[in-house]
Amino acid sequence: MLTGKHFINGQWVDSLFGKTREILNPYDASVVAVVAEGDREDAKAAIKAARLAFDHGGWPQTPATERARLLFKLADLIERDHEELARLESLDTGKTVEESRWDMDDIAGIFRYFAGLADKDGGEVIASPNPGSTSTVIREPVGVCGQISPWNYPLLQASWKMAPALAAGCTIVMKPSEITPLTTLKVTELAEEAGFPPGVVNTVLGPGAEVGAELAESHGVDLISFTGGIATGKTIMRAAADNVKKVALELGGKNPNIIFDDADLDLAVDYALNGVFFHAGQICSAGARVMVQAGIHDRFVDALKARMEKIVVGNGFDEKTQMGPLISADHLAKVEGYVEIAKEEGATLLLGGKRPDDPDLQSGYFHLPTLFTGCENDMRIVQEEVFGPVITVERFATEEEAVSRANDTIYGLSAGFWTRDPDRIERVSKALRFGTVWANDFNVYFVQAPWGGYKQSGLGRELGKIGLEEYTEVKHIYRNH
Ligand code: NAD
Repeated sequence: MLTGKHFINGQWVDSLFGKTREILNPYDASVVAVVAEGDREDAKAAIKAARLAFDHGGWPQTPATERARLLFKLADLIERDHEELARLESLDTGKTVEESRWDMDDIAGIFRYFAGLADKDGGEVIASPNPGSTSTVIREPVGVCGQISPWNYPLLQASWKMAPALAAGCTIVMKPSEITPLTTLKVTELAEEAGFPPGVVNTVLGPGAEVGAELAESHGVDLISFTGGIATGKTIMRAAADNVKKVALELGGKNPNIIFDDADLDLAVDYALNGVFFHAGQICSAGARVMVQAGIHDRFVDALKARMEKIVVGNGFDEKTQMGPLISADHLAKVEGYVEIAKEEGATLLLGGKRPDDPDLQSGYFHLPTLFTGCENDMRIVQEEVFGPVITVERFATEEEAVSRANDTIYGLSAGFWTRDPDRIERVSKALRFGTVWANDFNVYFVQAPWGGYKQSGLGRELGKIGLEEYTEVKHIYRNH
């Protein structure tokens, strides 16, 4: 049985009140680990350690080249333990091991990218209006950062926060989702092995309402970076107001994938699948809202249904499996609830809509790939984030109608569209109000490009150069003589 403790000030420690939590494998609900379950007091201890390391430990003053060296070393260790990490991620989330391996490839690259950026910004001399004076603008680390991550991409999301914060010279308190802590714990071990000084990297396990809330409210935290649902994001923003800490939010998405009549049909179908069925649709950028122009609609739906029927659902550790289970019994119930809502709203169920019949999959949290057609813009199944293997198809007539319907949402994380017309690519890319827009592709992201949402999908950006800048304050130094 795997176990896990908090990592605070360079020490592995149990919860102050000795509480623990069982971690379940979503494939069969078996217990795979027992880990410490912290509360506000554990979070306070970690914040104190991070505060000391920032204010008196010398981490912000450590040369950027040294911070980079440690981050490069951590990337090497992640590569060394790649397979173990991938298997832990699949055990914890149920996703296929192949998907987890891709995540681990990305994660090593993310640490290398931010390690490479750490020593590149030497500040800027700007023109001063006053003769004899000099004006310099520099960036300094923002301070102690609370980093709260979700369960769908546990280590990937944590690394988007951890790598830039450490590169910038911040100290961190990470809080993984209470149901998927295993890979964050393993990377914390690797950070210890890499040699980050005590207090620079801290990890506290436990529920959002305790550990997460303490990080959001604490006056000892200078920045809170959160990835998760919109409702939690709003709670965190309110909690952060008390000491006006910096807030970075990566929230949910309901992402349109628009197929115009002149699209390459086979490619568009391929990517409609790729857009949704990674990790059983539990992706913030899932292209779950498919909009198809009338002229291609029926052919597209037939081809999509035929492909969806072939998706192999099962144990993520079986190489044949293409889609694993949902994360938990609660989440399965939520997805089943949305299927009922869609039926009541009058959408046509073409495929799935239930749990698989396979007797081997009854103890896990499985749901079949599900396809609804005849959907309308004002339906809840179209407007709300289901976060499961469910595609809704809407029919549209004109480009103008497609763009205006796609933009008619509280979300603004990502959108994609398919066309062979270069002028339309230009027009539609600009007209869509989303943080990422893909033309003739879907769900592509890489560390060099910023990621984040318009509207209620978030605040700030992760990845790219701007992802490092989020962890800095800007200082103007004016020197007279
Ligand atoms: P969630 O909001 O329930 O939880 C996310 C994290 O917040 C967990 O660690 C949880 O313990 C913590 N938390 C819960 N209540 C809290 C509180 N009151 N104060 C502080 N922390 C609290 O989200 P989830 O169900 O784990 O993740 C799914 C959501 O994450 C989806 O909406 C998805 O779209 C979003 N997501 C967004 C991105 C992105 O890049 N924009 C990426 C991945 C996931």
